Amino acid sequence: MEFFDTHSHYNDEKFDEDREEIIRATFDSNITKFMCIGYNLESSIKAIEIAEAHENIYATCGISPNDIEGVNFNDLQEIKKIAKNPKVLAIGEIGLDYYWEKDKENQEKQRSFFIEQIKIANELDLPITIHTRDAYLDTIKILKENKVNNTGIFHCCPLNNELIKDGLNLGYYISFSGVITYKNAKPEIPVSLVPENRILIETDSPYLSPEPYRGKRNDSRRVIEVANKISEIKNIPLEEIAKITYENALKVYKLENKK
Ligand SMILES: [Zn+2]
Repeated sequence: MEFFDTHSHYNDEKFDEDREEIIRATFDSNITKFMCIGYNLESSIKAIEIAEAHENIYATCGISPNDIEGVNFNDLQEIKKIAKNPKVLAIGEIGLDYYWEKDKENQEKQRSFFIEQIKIANELDLPITIHTRDAYLDTIKILKENKVNNTGIFHCCPLNNELIKDGLNLGYYISFSGVITYKNAKPEIPVSLVPENRILIETDSPYLSPEPYRGKRNDSRRVIEVANKISEIKNIPLEEIAKITYENALKVYKLENKK
């Protein structure tokens, strides 16, 4: 059995002390490929560095909605420049977050950065990885009005049935994190809505540790807990969940011919 963690942040400073050790332990635990996701310019550069140093780690570049303070459109030119690296497989994480950002003007800035980065994804022929929180309608509206040629992933997808249905209709993949293992999460219907050919698993480490590790620093090894929960809900053996999520990840990141 092998697993693909489609969203982690080994570029985070929480891994500064023991990054290489954790990477080795991850590969030793049947997590044979994973993504290192950028969220601002600095972390995107770091993600590429980590990916370049390890055969089965890949990177994304982007400025997240929670990192646009003090950032301007020139910084996006830098993102575009570094995203040409062959190890970069997507633009992200990008999107909207009205949970942390209540200011209307800043929400407007989030929308324009989201749209500008969609343009970069299309120019570089890459998919996107989307962060969306409390912004369902605007996220879908932007994706409808700004078609992403390679679609992409709803990362740590909110357990919102309408969002999932709309995302699937637009051709996107739905990625679930440790949140689906939390006691009051009610993941049954949202997980059931996602067909086998569109489902992905992720950790979002160092955040969102699944049960029974909730509150501790997360790492990609715990993606197995997420797969287990999906296996339980869909009543499909874990081996099969590992295989379908792995193949979906290869497909969305266009790694099928680079295995
Ligand atoms: Zn993330």
